[in-house]
Amino acid sequence: MGSVLPADLFLGENNMQLYIAGGCGDQGRNCFYIEGDRHAFIVDAGTSTDGLDRLPDLSPEMIRRAEYLFVTHSHKDHTGAIEYLENNGFTGPVLMSNQTYQQIHYKPKNTMILDSTAPELSLDGELSLRWGRTGHCAGAVWYYITVDGKRLFFSGDYRENDTFYRCDAVRGLTADLAVIDSAYSRMDRAEDMRKAVADAAKEALGQSAPLLLPVPSYGRGLSMAMLFYQTFGEAYPIHMSAKLRDQWLRIGHRSYFAHEEILGYPFDIFRPWDETSLEGGHIYFLTDAQLSKAKSRQLIDCHPELSVLMTGSLHGYGKAKFYYESGRAAFVLWPNHLTKQETADLAAANAFSLVVPFHNPKEKPETDVYSF
Ligand SMILES: [Zn+2]
Ligand SMILES: [Zn+2]
Repeated sequence: MGSVLPADLFLGENNMQLYIAGGCGDQGRNCFYIEGDRHAFIVDAGTSTDGLDRLPDLSPEMIRRAEYLFVTHSHKDHTGAIEYLENNGFTGPVLMSNQTYQQIHYKPKNTMILDSTAPELSLDGELSLRWGRTGHCAGAVWYYITVDGKRLFFSGDYRENDTFYRCDAVRGLTADLAVIDSAYSRMDRAEDMRKAVADAAKEALGQSAPLLLPVPSYGRGLSMAMLFYQTFGEAYPIHMSAKLRDQWLRIGHRSYFAHEEILGYPFDIFRPWDETSLEGGHIYFLTDAQLSKAKSRQLIDCHPELSVLMTGSLHGYGKAKFYYESGRAAFVLWPNHLTKQETADLAAANAFSLVVPFHNPKEKPETDVYSF
């Protein structure tokens, strides 16, 4: 008797969807739209890195319905489409760390800065979150969001045990859905990859060549410089473009994003560089990861003795790819994302009912919509 329940009770609390708007089996364009019965939000709004600046696949209704945009970090593949969302009807707060806000070029109209002294926040009775540092670059955070009775984890670009950046390692979390960095298809772990980069550097420097490392302004440059300093000591002096050295001066002695032991190193272990002068046996970090600037290419072209080592993904814009393919530059991947093995490690250290790997151009999930 009375066994017929209204249809909405069957859906009830359990009805939530993840729409992959980009970032899975994709080049950049990381963007995830989540909609439940009462709330909708977006995590990251990136453009593609294939040179086409493709926008996320979000309908105008989704953009208008989203109440919040959670930004994991400043890189364009996570932030390039923020302005597009705002121009298409998104009016909610954009949440991010203070460092992320300082690094992005387009400043959102309605920014909510995460308070690093209290990494928990209740946005309304039904939506609350925690965040932690991911170790990928200064300002990068993961999110653990509780909404309408569901728990969701977004790793952002994630790297435990980086040589420079701190990570609040995620352990023992329970979540109905986990969207996890799985950028590298390989099955090894970061230590081996770091060693390969150090070995490649040592080989070049051992032949008394100057060594050039094109890197982004925010991210692995400081991590690699730290590894070289800790491995080689003063044997190979380390120089940096102004933008990277400025980062070093800003965060090198601040405990929030950098490791404890780094705070004790003097600033002059990394020297300023005019992006022109070169000496054999010295290391040079150039903040032009994709060799987009003519000046960077000129430096390489005018110095055949200069060894060039690429250490991150080669995008569709710039000329880094060309230098690698022509054999002028070597390539050894620096780990500032997770390998497939480490994605599995992270999943095993937590209780995630559904894992969606992202950030891997080669791995496209069977569906763009998950119900959970
Ligand atoms: Zn990133
Ligand atoms: Zn990314």
